[in-house]
Amino acid sequence: MTSDVTVATFATRSEADIARARLAADDIASRVVADDEGGLNPGFYRRYGVRVVVADGDVDDALTSLGVERVVVRRPLLDAMFTHAVAGHPAEACGLVLFEGDAPAFVCCLTNVDGSGHRFTIDPSEHFGALRFGERLGWTVGGVFHSHVRTEPVPSEADIRGGADPGWLHFIVGPVEGTRQTVRAFRIVDGEPSEVWVSVVS
Ligand SMILES: [Zn+2]
Repeated sequence: MTSDVTVATFATRSEADIARARLAADDIASRVVADDEGGLNPGFYRRYGVRVVVADGDVDDALTSLGVERVVVRRPLLDAMFTHAVAGHPAEACGLVLFEGDAPAFVCCLTNVDGSGHRFTIDPSEHFGALRFGERLGWTVGGVFHSHVRTEPVPSEADIRGGADPGWLHFIVGPVEGTRQTVRAFRIVDGEPSEVWVSVVS
């Protein structure tokens, strides 16, 4: 069975149409889908509301055609993020992602010292502990994760302003109170987020 898969998201329909034209030039059929704007937080949807979708058999070719960065995440790492997100509710949960080379190897579930449902700050001593733990195993901190309690897992203005290390991947899971929890990953460079395709393997 085939289903449609989102391979890129944009703020505007014209950007999505450009991506669609690039795919068409590579003989890959795609559609542009505009998600509902509005709700309680129109800003999120304004930035990421227009999606380019392809048939699931065309995903790899489409990502290559669009030059989309990919990251492979093992399912247990994702489960750890979701479990921590639920445990942290109603505050945002957070942690660090240790990488072996360019692949996530371990998720450190840490404390959000803000205790807030709208923002997070990783406990500094736990942050240091995670660094030391990784060093012993030859892993480096390559990313950070946090949960969104009610909103879609895309960077908030606070996430973008607090962008930390531009080399990090920012994983966001949620919405914890929603019926369809998912994970998305972004790089945030100079205040500009760009989405990284998350490939989940068992
Ligand atoms: Zn956030």
